[in-house]
Amino acid sequence: MNKIRSICVYCGSSPGRDEVYIKAGHLLGHSIAKAGVRLVYGGGTKGIMGAVADGARRAGGKVTGIIPRFLMNREATESALTKLDEVIVTDNMHERKHLMFEKSDAFVALPGGIGTVEEIVEIMTWAQLGHHRKPIVFANVKGFWDPMLTLLDHMKTEGFVHTSHLVQPLVVDQPEAVVSAIMVAAGADSTPTEGVQSVIDKM
Ligand code: AMP
Repeated sequence: MNKIRSICVYCGSSPGRDEVYIKAGHLLGHSIAKAGVRLVYGGGTKGIMGAVADGARRAGGKVTGIIPRFLMNREATESALTKLDEVIVTDNMHERKHLMFEKSDAFVALPGGIGTVEEIVEIMTWAQLGHHRKPIVFANVKGFWDPMLTLLDHMKTEGFVHTSHLVQPLVVDQPEAVVSAIMVAAGADSTPTEGVQSVIDKM
């Protein structure tokens, strides 16, 4: 049975320098929608965030945007938000992050900046503490996350990752392979997915 009904995507509110990042956002949004899975994201209309939502909407997918009130006119306009089929406006960042966590069955980090890193690292820390076993994926577009993976490896080598068996993020190079990687990790499908490797296997 498919246990994955919603996937949270964390990604940049900027487009990045290479158009491959925006393209990856569209592809991921599209494939989430085509799998009949709901996209949960930060509600923004700019950068890669906007591309993921656009990709999902154009493919007829369901999209939940969760945005704190103070970011509403910075990261999304009210008229753009009306295009989503669910919008949740929170009082602050903490509430937003908590709701994004609760409403999602898996988490993906596309390329992004400091906000994206903060969000995906928090999800990994909660996994490390045993708060959840939901799949976590680094969508490693153009090797974007290689420095982060090197850092994780370094922390493990130096003896600072105490419960690595609880934190096993997947690394998927192709955005269109992300959803099937999540399905396999969640035990929903036994088909092996190409281009997927566990970070822990590399460690
Ligand atoms: P960025 O990767 O910096 O472009 O940010 C991507 C998303 O993360 C944006 O929607 C930001 O609102 C959000 N964000 C920025 N800073 C934080 C933070 N400290 N905690 C959680 N989310 C954040």
